[in-house]
Amino acid sequence: MIKEITITINPEDEKNYNRLKTLVFKELKQNGIKFTAEKTTLVFQKKSIDARHGRVKLHLRYKVYIDEKPADSEDAVPVWKKVSESKTVIIIGSGPAGLFAALRLLEDEIKPVIIERGTDTTSRRKDIALISTKNFVNANSNYCFGEGGAGTFSDGKLYTRSNKRGDIGRILRIFAHFGADKAILTDAHPHIGTDRLPKVINNMRNKIIELGGEFHFNTKLTDFIIEECKGAETVCGVMTEDVISGEKTEFRGDAVILATGHSATDVYSLIARTSPAALEAKTFAVGVRVEHPRKLIDNIQYHGKTEGMPTAEYRVTVQEDERGVYSFCMCPGGFVVPSASGDEEIVVNGMSAAARNSKWSNAAIVVETRPEDIPQNFVGEAEKMGCPALAGLLFRTDLEKKAKMNGKGQAAPAQLLTDFLANKQSETLPETSYTPGITASNLNEWLPPHICTRLQKGFRDIDKKMHGFVSPEALLIAVETRTSTPVRILRDGETMECTVLKRLYPAGEGSGYAGGIVSSAMDGEKVANLIAFL
Ligand SMILES: Cc1cc2nc3c(=O)[nH]c(=O)nc-3n(C[C@H](O)[C@H](O)[C@H](O)COP(=O)(O)OP(=O)(O)OC[C@H]3O[C@@H](n4cnc5c(N)ncnc54)[C@H](O)[C@@H]3O)c2cc1C
Repeated sequence: MIKEITITINPEDEKNYNRLKTLVFKELKQNGIKFTAEKTTLVFQKKSIDARHGRVKLHLRYKVYIDEKPADSEDAVPVWKKVSESKTVIIIGSGPAGLFAALRLLEDEIKPVIIERGTDTTSRRKDIALISTKNFVNANSNYCFGEGGAGTFSDGKLYTRSNKRGDIGRILRIFAHFGADKAILTDAHPHIGTDRLPKVINNMRNKIIELGGEFHFNTKLTDFIIEECKGAETVCGVMTEDVISGEKTEFRGDAVILATGHSATDVYSLIARTSPAALEAKTFAVGVRVEHPRKLIDNIQYHGKTEGMPTAEYRVTVQEDERGVYSFCMCPGGFVVPSASGDEEIVVNGMSAAARNSKWSNAAIVVETRPEDIPQNFVGEAEKMGCPALAGLLFRTDLEKKAKMNGKGQAAPAQLLTDFLANKQSETLPETSYTPGITASNLNEWLPPHICTRLQKGFRDIDKKMHGFVSPEALLIAVETRTSTPVRILRDGETMECTVLKRLYPAGEGSGYAGGIVSSAMDGEKVANLIAFL
């Protein structure tokens, strides 16, 4: 018999195995379960920290095997096979959606050909350094573009709310198999860390190549090859351009998975030109990154009892004037990073190392932005372009350009949170983790009023939940626009094919059906799974 038991303990009891065992046995007894201690084995499943109600408690979940041996399949991963020449699938983008799609195809011996505009992780690391040292953003190799996708140099948080979308455990086991710490299999809030993720991604790439898959770096999708098939426009391949030499190449395959993420504005423009009806406007979010000293957040979350505790996380949501204002991608002990994908814009995001030990903790605080919230001038512009669905994207681009105008190079516009609430430019700014630097700017003067008003109300209400959040030590850095995509590439609910272009499979965050590393990976797998049965 196997039973799942959760016990709640004080943090100081975590290493006291006898006490833990006693508590699990007590729980079994209370549930009327018959067992003998000698024939009972505890397998630890998950740990979560509960810092509510003024006390810190740990919840530990165990799988309890009574009169039977623990299954050893808990870290089982799929069998990836050498490709046969039967089918080739072109995958655009090597982010989580693209990589997990490729691995899933290999289970069925289908050959994945991955086209990636950016470089491999080693060269990409150098390009990323140039953003801070030379204020230069390489438009094809940056925090958003390159091997491993947008999450490669990130916190690598692997938690998702999309439990129903797929087998999260399977994704975590695959990450662990390719080198992530096995703790991700048991932590309630697993994360890999920016210092470890690139290696995991490299291991995945090597496996795909070893089994006969292909990778083409510095190679950008520029067009679809569309042919008429059974009366329907069908994508039979893609045209690409080498971003260094400009050389054009044609790739043909049985299907094309479009996993280009939500920063690839040029890909949305390509679809808008080719098949505008394939795009739909969707809700996204706009806001800022807030950075506090790590200790300040730890003290708030652990009510001053921080000794021996991991760096504290938070997640907050409030409602302001009928829109959600919420934290996103919280990076405990992390860094604010420049994640623009072009030199003409400033975009911020966050990351942290596995140890989560920087002096700061940061999070995006963003305002839900629905299609009806997009200012009319962008709606008009999108209509003129023949694709009204692009309005949100035009609005996003405009905000990112405004951030650049109010910053300096890649030094981002910034303001003390208290000054933002008082509507005055900050006279001095604190030390920050954001390496390109910051420059004082009154965000109220250039962020749209409907965003600023809600952010102001939101911060005041967050402070009611987390006393001390609004602090003279809290710094806002702008602009955070890429928490999710403003456009959806429509696909059939059953076949997951693009509704307009046959054999084109939009996947991952850029498709508008997923968000975050794990959910994008699951989406990539799902699409590949359907293609395998074509
Ligand atoms: C700094 C940062 C930190 C983040 N932290 C986290 C986190 O901790 N946890 C989390 O869950 N999520 C995080 N995210 C979000 C997460 O990275 C994305 O949700 C996820 O990567 C989306 O996966 P994807 O495969 O759909 O797309 P992406 O990862 O965006 O990958 C798309 C790929 O397509 C390539 N591409 C784009 N256009 C073309 C083209 N025309 N031709 C060829 N290739 C192209 C890009 O170069 C890129 O490699 C973070 C993002 C950033 C930027």
